[in-house]
Formats: sequence, C-alpha cells, structure tokens
Amino acid sequence: MSKHLPALSRREFLVRTLVGSAALVLAPELLAASQRRDPNVWALLSDIHLSADASMVQRGINMTDHFTQATREVLALRKRPAGVIITGDCAFNSGQSVDYEHLARLLQPLRQGQVPVYIAMGNHDNRERFRAVLEAGGAPPRPLADRQVALLPTPRVNWIILDSLEKTLSTPGLLGPEQLDWLARTLDDHPKKPTLILAHHNVGTTAKRSDLKDSEAFLNIIRPRKQVKAYIYGHTHSWHVEQDPSGIHLINLPALGYVFRPEDPSGWVLATLKRRGMRLELRSMDPAHRAHGQVVELKWRAA
Ligand SMILES: [Zn+2]
Repeated sequence: MSKHLPALSRREFLVRTLVGSAALVLAPELLAASQRRDPNVWALLSDIHLSADASMVQRGINMTDHFTQATREVLALRKRPAGVIITGDCAFNSGQSVDYEHLARLLQPLRQGQVPVYIAMGNHDNRERFRAVLEAGGAPPRPLADRQVALLPTPRVNWIILDSLEKTLSTPGLLGPEQLDWLARTLDDHPKKPTLILAHHNVGTTAKRSDLKDSEAFLNIIRPRKQVKAYIYGHTHSWHVEQDPSGIHLINLPALGYVFRPEDPSGWVLATLKRRGMRLELRSMDPAHRAHGQVVELKWRAA
C-alpha cells in the first residue's frame, strides 16, 4: 500500500491559506498529515515583495530567489512546521494580479508539502486582486467581510492575524473601529490561552507617517488583556525585538525581500512555542551575515 499522501486540493489549500484550519473540515488523510507536523513550530515571513518578473532585483536582492530559498529551508526543517505566516507586502509594489499569480505558483511546494500558509495584507498589497487570484476556487468564510483576519488556535497559543492595509501604496496602516471591536471581542471570548497577534504595520506613538494610525486604540485593547503576549509585524524591513512597558513583546520580522539598510539581514524567523514563551531563530538568506542563527528566547508576561 502506498504511503504517499495526496497533496492538498487547491480549494483545501486556499481555505487554509486564508482563514486557517478552524473553518476547515479535515479529510482523514489531511489529519494524518497534520499529525506529522509539529504544532509548536512556525515559520514567520514578512515583506516578500514578489514581482511577476522572476528576474527582478531590488537593492541587490532577487525576491523570487529569496522566497524560493526560504520555502526550501522550511520544507527541509527536521520538524515540519505547523504553518507559515506571512505578515504582508506579498506583492512587489502595487498588488498586481500577476504578482499574486506568481506567489500562488511559488507556494506550490508548501502546498505539496502539506504546510498551510496564512497571509496578512500590507500597504503594497491590494486586497481585491489578492482575493481574485488566491480565492479563485471560492471565497472562504470570513470573520470580517472586508478584511483578512483570522483566529488560529494551536495547542499552546492562539494566533490572531489582523489586516492593517488601509489603502494600497499609502504607507501608514489602519485597523479601524470594526476590526478593533472584533479583536476585543475575540480576545474576551478566549481569555486563557497565550495569544500572539500579527499584522503588517509597526505600532508607534509619535505619529510617524509610516506607522499604524490607530496604534493607541490597538494598544489600549491589548495591554490590559494579559493573554496577549506578543505583537509581530514587518513593514520596516528590519529585524528587531523589544518589549512594550506592559510586558508585550514587540517583534519586528526581517524582510525576506529587499532591505533598506545594507547591514540589515534579509531572511525569515523560525518560531518555536514553549509553555511560557517562545524561541525565535533568525534565518538569514546570507548565511555569512552576523545575525544568521541569532536566537532570542522570550518569556511571557504574567497572566
Ligand atoms: Zn515591505
């Protein structure tokens, strides 16, 4: 009898891609496959900036090569991760349909490797064109009709993916009152399990023009809700981990695409969930980079 498991069907893959496993009825063979994945290991990618032109180089970096290399590294991990999360800026610049078609093609190896992918929107994405390409097999059910949000329960943490894209090619981000209400309700409905929130934009309190515009309203929701342990984002194209005065970890993922400052690493982050914290390991695309292999151990704030 063949031990080979069928790859996810396109429809199954896309449902998982966009809303997470909560809404998916797993076929028996998929359950078997999910049992081979480690539910505590996740690959975190950001700012992949894929252009339909696979030869395009920006600031010395070929984005298609980097994405392909990262995909290969994820699939070669000793423990296959439970999923890949991409925190926005999937498209090169203005969210063109051809860029998303290219992304869909480059996601094939993960699909065949039974690794689900969850994607947030960035300011270089276009939500409508993203959906038209990646949801061509049918739109999955959504918690919020006009935003790409998801709650992904796992044994040790709940991931919450938010959508901070306000307007394509306009640098700052906005969650908006409706999404903030959904976030507060979702957190109040799940008060116990450590919760990690992801979106594209960095929070800022200095009214910088590139930040999340409603940072203060967002922080006012997550700071007092002690199950929130970390906020993970991209946008700045630089790798940085710090802690909010409330004890929430602020994790700025590196860009997998190009970097603005040549000394910054381009790469992705391997996250391993522990009972009371998380281990992050930076995987630079350039293994000679001094940040390659850097490990950050985080402890969760008290509940
Ligand atoms: Zn970006």
